Amino acid sequence: MTLVIGLTGGIGSGKTTVANLFANYGIDIIDADVIARAVVAPGSEGLKAIVTRLGADILLTDGQLNRSKLREAIFNEPALKAWLDSLLHPMIRQQMQQEISQANSPYCLLVVPLMVENQLQKMTDRLLVVDVSEDVQIARTTSRDQVDGIQVRKILAAQATREQRLAAADDVIDNNGDSHKLHGEVARLHQQYLRLSEKPGRN
Ligand code: ADP
Repeated sequence: MTLVIGLTGGIGSGKTTVANLFANYGIDIIDADVIARAVVAPGSEGLKAIVTRLGADILLTDGQLNRSKLREAIFNEPALKAWLDSLLHPMIRQQMQQEISQANSPYCLLVVPLMVENQLQKMTDRLLVVDVSEDVQIARTTSRDQVDGIQVRKILAAQATREQRLAAADDVIDNNGDSHKLHGEVARLHQQYLRLSEKPGRN
């Protein structure tokens, strides 16, 4: 079984940037966000179940899930969130497992923004956390997205704290520095993970 390195971090911490650096070394990336969209794509079992429960009004004219309408429905009926999670989380976990079993790089990276919140680190052999200060997180997110600091703070409040993530981490990338420093940290970890993947008894 391929060694599975979990990658997580708060919004704007640099997960995507870090994942791309590992991908440059030929490492297979399994992205929870991509999978979470796929399980509700047109034609999926996930979307069919949502339409059965909420009606075809939950679709956009092109057949895609209307996410803002779904958020509104959850706001009006909080129990819907638990129903959706119990529908979609097993599908997401199963797809992750399948992609892990198909990985053919020496190790693979499972990127999950809400890894600690959803206890998905149990699917990994080791957890890598990208860590930045809240100030850096807010500055980078507001310059990347069309959001202001207040909105980013709201998102931060709904996510695990820095301390909760660090407590679950086996390895930490400090991404408060520049991109040159980040490249160096990823290069060091890549070597470490290659060594771990070659450990006798792993395969
Ligand atoms: P996440 O995927 O965790 O939300 P991103 O990888 O998208 O975070 O990074 C957030 C923003 O910060 C992006 O615009 C990215 O280019 C930028 N960024 C990431 N790391 C650094 C760094 N070390 N120095 C400067 N900007 C960075």
